[in-house]
Amino acid sequence: MVFVVLETSELDFENRIVSPDADKSDNEIDYSLRPKTLGEYIGQDKVKENLRIFIEAAKGRDEPLDHVLLYGPPGLGKTTLSAIIAHEMGVNIRITSGPAIEKPGDLAALLTNLSENDVLFIDEIHRLSRSIEEILYPALEDFALDIIIGKGPSARSIRIDLPKFTLIGATTRAGQLTSPLRDRFGVVFRLELYTNEQLCDIIMRSSVILAIACDRDGAMEIARRSRGTPRIANRLLKRVRDFAEVMGNGKITEDIAKIALDRLEIDSLGLDSLDKRVLNMIIKGYGGGPVGLETLASAIGEESVTIEDVCEPYLMQLGFLSRTPRGRCATNLAYRHLGYALKNEDCEQQSLI
Ligand code: ADP
Repeated sequence: MVFVVLETSELDFENRIVSPDADKSDNEIDYSLRPKTLGEYIGQDKVKENLRIFIEAAKGRDEPLDHVLLYGPPGLGKTTLSAIIAHEMGVNIRITSGPAIEKPGDLAALLTNLSENDVLFIDEIHRLSRSIEEILYPALEDFALDIIIGKGPSARSIRIDLPKFTLIGATTRAGQLTSPLRDRFGVVFRLELYTNEQLCDIIMRSSVILAIACDRDGAMEIARRSRGTPRIANRLLKRVRDFAEVMGNGKITEDIAKIALDRLEIDSLGLDSLDKRVLNMIIKGYGGGPVGLETLASAIGEESVTIEDVCEPYLMQLGFLSRTPRGRCATNLAYRHLGYALKNEDCEQQSLI
């Protein structure tokens, strides 16, 4: 399989160690840690089971797989899964991203260079411009490109046939996809945050690949603080290794993991200072909520997309935050975790409606 990386997505080089976005050091290890087959890919069982069937059926008919849309928070394995699909189909993958395709010519070049049944992976597909989307529609439906040659009265349209291919689109925000584009995906999968057991398996697997000595209790401690996200789990594993080498005998145990992660200011549930700022602001600044996203974002001086994409999925999974029609609320669980006595009955009831 040829793995051609045309352009990686715009990377967000935040200093937050529990940011699910890729940073420079992740890229170095990402490639070696990426599972190559469906069997190696841990978790997301329903997605894997369905994919196995779709892939086998498509291969049996000697056709490309239907177009696939993968959505879910960053760092959950969308890019990895796309490479696995290509590998299992026995075809090449080309990787690009929505913001990297600026001109119609960029997309035309990508599409005309594909071979029969290849996979084209577009990360952050919600960021494709409308004009590019319109060129994509006939390519997805009829495997053809409509190109206008010339200008004014002498302009004419020609149609170029394309090889049959599979588009895999990945997005953190499925709601921002236009409905004509969303409708063109035959297969839509939502990736879920991972359980602690699954993350523990991922950490144990990564520690073998990176030759890091790590026992299961140590891996579990890292898993508990990884916010359900494999990318964060792999990053924390590398940081904890540093502590194990300097403060211990090189082996990651539960005690070493606890010391290291406490020093990194990641609490027992994986919350860092940004999550705490969000919750503290809702609780102390707005009586537990409800408070609108934009108001909350400006109150703590963060971008609303960061709160929405990075903090909220995990805080909601923990049951610390609820979204109500009137805004965000902190739940009793959040009050308890942060050591507040107050109970926010109003919001609790709202979230049940
Ligand atoms: P996304 O495209 O959703 O942002 P990636 O596919 O880049 O996420 O995954 C981030 C990292 O997490 C990769 O380096 C990969 O090694 C690891 N990873 C993701 N999903 C899994 C999984 N199911 N099993 C093992 N490792 C995984």
